[in-house]
Parts: sequence; C-alpha cells; structure tokens
Amino acid sequence: MTPVVCDHRVLHDPQAVLEAALEAYVAIDSADRVLGWNTAAEALFGYSHAQACGRAVADLIIPERYREQHRAGLARTAAGEPGRVLGNRLQLAAVHRDGHEFPIEMTLTITTTPDGPVFHAFAYDVSARVRAARFTGVEAAVSRGLAEASSSDAASARVTEALGRHMGWPVVELWLTDLDRQLLVCTARYAEPGRLLAGFAVDELDYGIGLPGRVYLQRRSAWVPDLAADATLVRSRAAAAIGLHVAVGVPVWAGGRILGALCVFGDRAEEPEDTLLGLLSGVAAHVGQYLERRRTEELAIELARTKDEFLAMVTHELRNPLTAITATATVLSDEADALTPPDLRHYLGIINRNALRLTVMAEDLLDLSRLESGHMAIHPTDCDLTEVVNAAIQDLTEAAVDKNLTVTVTIPPRLPLHADPDRLRQVADNLLSNAIKYTPAGGTITVTADTRSEPDSNGKQIVWSIADTGIGIPAADRPRLFRRFYRASSALDRRIPGTGLGLVIVRTILERHHGTITLADHQGPGTTFVIELPTEPLEQSTPPRHPQDPYP
Ligand code: ADP
Repeated sequence: MTPVVCDHRVLHDPQAVLEAALEAYVAIDSADRVLGWNTAAEALFGYSHAQACGRAVADLIIPERYREQHRAGLARTAAGEPGRVLGNRLQLAAVHRDGHEFPIEMTLTITTTPDGPVFHAFAYDVSARVRAARFTGVEAAVSRGLAEASSSDAASARVTEALGRHMGWPVVELWLTDLDRQLLVCTARYAEPGRLLAGFAVDELDYGIGLPGRVYLQRRSAWVPDLAADATLVRSRAAAAIGLHVAVGVPVWAGGRILGALCVFGDRAEEPEDTLLGLLSGVAAHVGQYLERRRTEELAIELARTKDEFLAMVTHELRNPLTAITATATVLSDEADALTPPDLRHYLGIINRNALRLTVMAEDLLDLSRLESGHMAIHPTDCDLTEVVNAAIQDLTEAAVDKNLTVTVTIPPRLPLHADPDRLRQVADNLLSNAIKYTPAGGTITVTADTRSEPDSNGKQIVWSIADTGIGIPAADRPRLFRRFYRASSALDRRIPGTGLGLVIVRTILERHHGTITLADHQGPGTTFVIELPTEPLEQSTPPRHPQDPYP
C-alpha cells in the first residue's frame, strides 16, 4: 500500500491531527458505541469527550425518528452490505445536546480492527448553507405566488403556504386589520397536512391579543421561544397542545401604515436569529407592497365606477328636471296671454317641483362633501330623539297622506341623548322620505325607538328602526347600498327619482356620532333600517370613515 504521507515525522501523532481538525470526528463500533470524539465534535454536538465516549451515538445526536433506520443501516454496513452511506457526502439531521435540531454534512468511512469494524464520521454544520438555500427558495416562491395570484386572498394563501412548505413551519398565518371593526382578521392560514389545529385556529383577534395582536399593537416583531411556558398570550396553551413550540411574528407594513402581522409557528426549539427575522420581515414587506398595490388598483376601479355612476346620475337627475323646467318655461312664455290662472298654477307647480329636486341634489352633494372633508361640524348638545323624530314625521305627514300610507310610531315620550339634533333630523328626514318614496300607495311605515343597556358597555344605546312595506332592496344590491350614487335595481327599474346620496350622508352622520346603521332582515316585502346610537356625550367626533379607507 502506498504511504499517504511522505514524511512520517509530520504525522507523529494522528490523534493530534484529528483533534486539530475543523470537522467533527466521531468514531463508533458496530454496536453504535462512541470510540472517538474530537474537540470539534464537542463544539458541534454539545457533549464533551467524556460524556460521549461509550454511549450509543444514536441516543446522542440522531433525531429520534431516524434512530431505528440508523441502527439497521449500521448492522447492514457492518455485515459488509454495500450501501449509499460509505464514501458519499450525506446531508443529515443531527440533534444538539440542548435539543435543537440542525443539518450536518457528513462522510463515513470504515476500517477493520481485530475487534471488528470501526466507522469514522467527519461532519460539519451546514445550517447556514441550508438556510440560505431555503431563504432563496422561499423568496422565489413568494414572488411567484404574488405575481400569479388573481386576488389578495389568493396571494395571502400562496405566501403562507410558501413559508410553511419551504421553511418547514407547521403553521403560518397572515393577519390583517379590519379598521371598520377595529380588530385583526386571519386572512390566510397554512397548516401542514395532517396537523390538527383544534382550538388554536381562531379567525379574529382584538388588537393587543395573541401574537398577531401584540405585533400589531407594539408595531415590532415578537418571538415566543417556548409556547408551553408562555402565560402572556391567549393562544400559547392551545398552540403547545397541538405540538407547536416556538412562534415568531413580524409586522406587515405598507407606506408607513401597519396592515397586520405575519406569524409563523414551529415545532422545534429554534434560536431567534436576525437572519430569520430579516427573511420574515422581507416577505412581510413584499406582502404589504402587494396589498397596497392591489388596493390602489381597486381604488382606481372604484373611482372610475363612481365617476360613471356620477355621470349617469347627473345626466338623469340633472337633465330631467332641467328639461322639465325649460320646457315648461317655454310654454309659459309662448302662451302667456292664453293661459288661465289654473293653467298658470299647474305650470308653475312643475317648475317649482323640479327646481326643488335640483336644490335637494345640490344640497346633498354639498353636505356630503362637507361631512367627508370634516367641514361640517357636529355640535352635540342634550337633546331628545323623540322630539326630532316626531317633528320629521309631522313635516312628512302630507306626503304620506297623499300616498295613502299608514305611519305607526312606537316611541317613548322622551329619548334623551347627547347629539347634534339638526344632523339627527337630517337622518330622520332622509330615511322617512325614502320610506315614503319607495313604498307604493296603501303601504305602512313603522317607526320604533327605545333605549337599551349593553351589559358589556358603560353607556346606553338607542335602537331606532324605520321599516316600510315598499319595493324592498334586492339582496344583490345590499352590500353596495351605502356607496355614493349607488341606487338599487328595484328603484332604477321603477324609474323612481333619486341621487344615491341620502344613505351615504345618513351613515356618515351616524358614524360621526359613534353610531351605526344596518339593513335588517325584513319579513315580507319592504325594507327595515336599524340605527344604533350611544346616548352618552360624544368625547370627540371622529373623522369620517369611508370607502377610501384602506383595507376595510
Ligand atoms: P336616493 O333615494 O336619492 O336614490 P339614497 O342614498 O337615499 O338615495 O338611497 C340609495 C338607494 O337605496 C335608493 O336609490 C334605493 O335604491 C335604495 N333605498 C333606500 N331606501 C329605501 C327604501 N326604504 N326602500 C327601498 N329602497 C330603498
């Protein structure tokens, strides 16, 4: 056999060479007992030479799930069976003494001694390389997922799945804020196949609650190293119960605004690492930019549609009364001498009604723009909703009687609240005049209002409803009802005039009073609007929230 070294003085002590090696050297016999363990092995696996020698290597550094396989392979190799193990570079999983798992690259050779075969393994940590490859894979999968997704929901699902699959995280969640409801909603959740989530999988969390809530509120990343030991987050126990061990959450930003949190859950102990946080923050930034871009696109479409609706409204609602006014004025001037006083009254009536329509529309447009820009101030004072509602009904009685409508009112003698009575009157006028306008002759309008104490809130609420037996609002129109210029098909089909501005004004006024308006389920034909208003003084009037708001 050719000697490997030319000058044997250099290798006077092979043991010293192994000791000085940068790779971990582990020697075992065919019974899996450790015979050799150099300094690099001590550093790599966490056991000293004395702790390792004589113990089964499977128990020391091989993950439990691979131990059986390892022992069987060892027996086969010791029996002289050729395998893929000897002489090849292998990438394997190893376990450190502290329990964390990491990838190693290893070569294995075998020598024969009078006591039997001895296996020599040289190994080194390839965590950094594996992670870098995974990171590249994740980034590519995320970019591909975002590029190919047809909607924000699809994009969120692709991103969470890419993170879960490429990084081996069993659960990945993307949470986004719902500004209208002031909470976080889980918009995508990846769970590895077969992982039962049981009580862990909630879909909504208040700000500040759970890992997503904490990340959102504190606006920075959070790391939970041991979910079983964590008593600060609501879902930690549920997470630990389904085998999750660590959790990391990073904020999702777009243009300086926080949109939500991206959270990953792992089932192995892992160290908080800057590189990992960097990767997650990078992915979160990608997602944030994507959502922002989509939102801008959606807003542009919305704007174009609003413009179309505005044009349609203007053409119809502006031109019709103008045509009527011009035509009637022409008749008046052409035939002034021949007209009798009743004819005159008739024509002047047409001009008056149509001028009024134009005035109402101009006022609605102005009111809306003042409310939305914050230029219409709300002046809250101690007032009485009963008084406001009765006055509005009083003024509209003639119109109701003209259409032979029955108006029933169930409302206590006084309903005190702290609000702006003029603006509430505007709400009452809009809803009552709609009820009259959209209810055919012979129908009924029912107005009710009363206070209600919320068990879990400090103050009282007024619940006020306006119901009619009219033409109703088809289910397909309901989601868009409170949008500017939107008119339901039931109104358009019957050519009932309107601008689609009243309900937007109503909703904006109520929001400025911290109240809400909803379209309630209605038995039989007709429509019911339900308003909820706090009776307590307004601390401050909040700026209006409208479809322009990002991520409703
Ligand atoms: P307008 O009545 O001037 O069109 P609104 O903003 O008040 O505008 O209402 C928007 C749309 O909602 C109406 O065009 C109509 O389609 C529908 N709507 C409102 N109130 C009623 C109601 N009481 N019954 C049926 N439809 C209604």
